Amino acid sequence: MFPESVKKLIDQLSKLPDIGPRAATRLVFYLLNQKQPDLDELSESIKKVKTEIGLCQQCFNLVSKGENLCSICRDKKREVSAICVVETVLNIPTIEKTKQYNGLYHILGGLISPTDGIGPDNLRIKQLIERVKKSQPPVKEIIFALSPSTEGDTTSLYIERLLKPMGIKISRLGRGLSMGSDLEYIDENTLTNAFLGRR
Ligand SMILES: [Zn+2]
Repeated sequence: MFPESVKKLIDQLSKLPDIGPRAATRLVFYLLNQKQPDLDELSESIKKVKTEIGLCQQCFNLVSKGENLCSICRDKKREVSAICVVETVLNIPTIEKTKQYNGLYHILGGLISPTDGIGPDNLRIKQLIERVKKSQPPVKEIIFALSPSTEGDTTSLYIERLLKPMGIKISRLGRGLSMGSDLEYIDENTLTNAFLGRR
């Protein structure tokens, strides 16, 4: 029905999360109405999105290629004695929006999930422990902001056991987060309350 180039782009966009063939078709016809320089800029951005980035050496947040530390780790106004442990980079903007936290982060890169074959060694747990051991000034509080799920609980418990002998205050987000919900989709107010109610 459509020329090959149009069909191909519809197919590719349909593979994106939350975009079905109908939405993809609408997007392609929107793009067909744009000016060529704008399309070039878009395709250039897509081309570079993965090659022009790196990971923060301290917390594993995304950084521009060549940078060692992310903007949060470099920020002198942040409380360096607190580390909030999260599953993915996507959790950071969600927590930042609550304005309840001014410490640093540590991105695990997933949760322990034996059914998916993800064990502690597949996550950045060793790096967290090393970081806490070496931290100067010393880390005083570790906050687990992981999804309230079996995997989240298993992961928190596993890391807590490793941290316990170090005598650091460990807290988890408080009530209000329903079991099984994904931290990424929790609304701001609920997350704010969970932060204030951390135990
Ligand atoms: Zn960082």
